[in-house]
Amino acid sequence: MLHFDHSLARDLDGFFVPWQAARPPAPRMIAWNAPLAEALGLGEADPEQLARWFSGAEDLPGSQPLALAYAGHQFGHFNPQLGDGRALLLGEVLMPGGARLDLQFKGSGPTPFSRQADGKCALGPALREYLISEAMAALGVPTTRSLAVVATGEGLWREQPHPGAVLTRIAASHLRVGTFEWAAAHKGREAVEQLTDYALKRHFSDRQEAHNRPLALLDAVCEAQAALVAQWMNLGFVHGVMNTDNVTISGETIDYGPCAFLDAYADDKVFSSIDRGGRYAFGQQPLVCRWNLYRLASALIEAIVAVDEADNEVARQMLEAFPERFEAHWLMGLRAKLGLRSSEPEDMSLGRGLFTALDGQQADFTRLFRALSASLGGDYGVVAAELTEREALWPWWNAWRNRVERDGGDPASRAAAMDAVNPLYIPRNHLTDAALSAAEQGDMAPFERLLDLASHPFTPREGMEAYERGAPDGSPAHVTYCGT
Ligand code: AMP
Ligand code: MG
Repeated sequence: MLHFDHSLARDLDGFFVPWQAARPPAPRMIAWNAPLAEALGLGEADPEQLARWFSGAEDLPGSQPLALAYAGHQFGHFNPQLGDGRALLLGEVLMPGGARLDLQFKGSGPTPFSRQADGKCALGPALREYLISEAMAALGVPTTRSLAVVATGEGLWREQPHPGAVLTRIAASHLRVGTFEWAAAHKGREAVEQLTDYALKRHFSDRQEAHNRPLALLDAVCEAQAALVAQWMNLGFVHGVMNTDNVTISGETIDYGPCAFLDAYADDKVFSSIDRGGRYAFGQQPLVCRWNLYRLASALIEAIVAVDEADNEVARQMLEAFPERFEAHWLMGLRAKLGLRSSEPEDMSLGRGLFTALDGQQADFTRLFRALSASLGGDYGVVAAELTEREALWPWWNAWRNRVERDGGDPASRAAAMDAVNPLYIPRNHLTDAALSAAEQGDMAPFERLLDLASHPFTPREGMEAYERGAPDGSPAHVTYCGT
């Protein structure tokens, strides 16, 4: 069985409410992540038993469910009281290797934080989170993982009827920027310090002995978020709702709602039906990330200056310098995508130049980088085929080829290195939609095929060429909806 421990319940009294999952009428296992289950130390079990445990129908042995309180800035506006309105933390699982991971239900019924909503989750959004989080993990992006989706046997009403489900997800923790905002808004400095100690112990144990611990935490989160958002940008990933309650302290991607991968590259691309002002557009993400870190700094500042008044200025400069920190991560990732092992001072302008040249070209973000590696032998045609205007990338491509020349090494190993970081298969929007509609009709085959491909994103598979391509021409613009 799972080896549970409950450090959050022990150390953060007052930050949560003990609670019970709703008992679903007819749980049925829809998606089960066997390799992850094994890594968590969960032995073989009968699928019907698993469905009862991972839906709340039967208490999971060793768990102590609770709903966590948090606040958050949603689309720029502070909401002092959010919290787990449709989620429950069952506790932390101690892995065989010693790691500690949260196990959480999503869609397990109303809690004291549900604010009139039903606390439930529809099957489609639960499977969407499962698919995209597993794809992100396979792409090497820090992320929550998905262990199970169990249909509850209940119907939900979301403009039309949908089957209900419980998603079980695994995370380094569920501490968010919004958890700190909640502590600062409702409980004051001592609670912020208590939360800081807990977060450092859990995620940044090497910084526990820092002179100014809240400042050290701020620095660690800035670093983790800079690295994370840089990875998103290098994969064309749009989170869609970067509210501060969806920003983890650990630096994992969390809360896959109206997220999507870019098809055609465009900095101002928005998929989410609720993001009317484009606040969380693709190109906005580094800026919004810093905005969110300012909110974390505000929550921490009283505790920071209590240690040392002068650290107010250090914190200010840290946030001021965030763009350079982000860009360093972004460029490191982009160098790898472009097959460069050395670094030159002009690499930043080469990298930026690529996206300037791509502006308006309708180039598929994912395919373009595979086309670049395919063009290493000197065939610009494979790159041109991805563009609206065939010559648009010609000057940039020549500059890149000169740079590659200076980088040295042989083309075959460079192409292999590029293809090991530039995916071939991602959960493309039209494929994901088709897979989820089929799943809601009871046909899991398209979901399983897409999950399998997205779980091995770099390896070409025979007969799967359709999965490498964007939506057919003339498809309607893709829109994503919040996972409620
Ligand atoms: P999310 O959009 O999933 O990040 O959720 C934002 C906030 O709304 C969180 O506090 C959630 O717990 C809450 N929430 C979202 N959907 C529901 C629901 N169906 N029932 C209760 N609370 C919800
Ligand atoms: Mg959320």
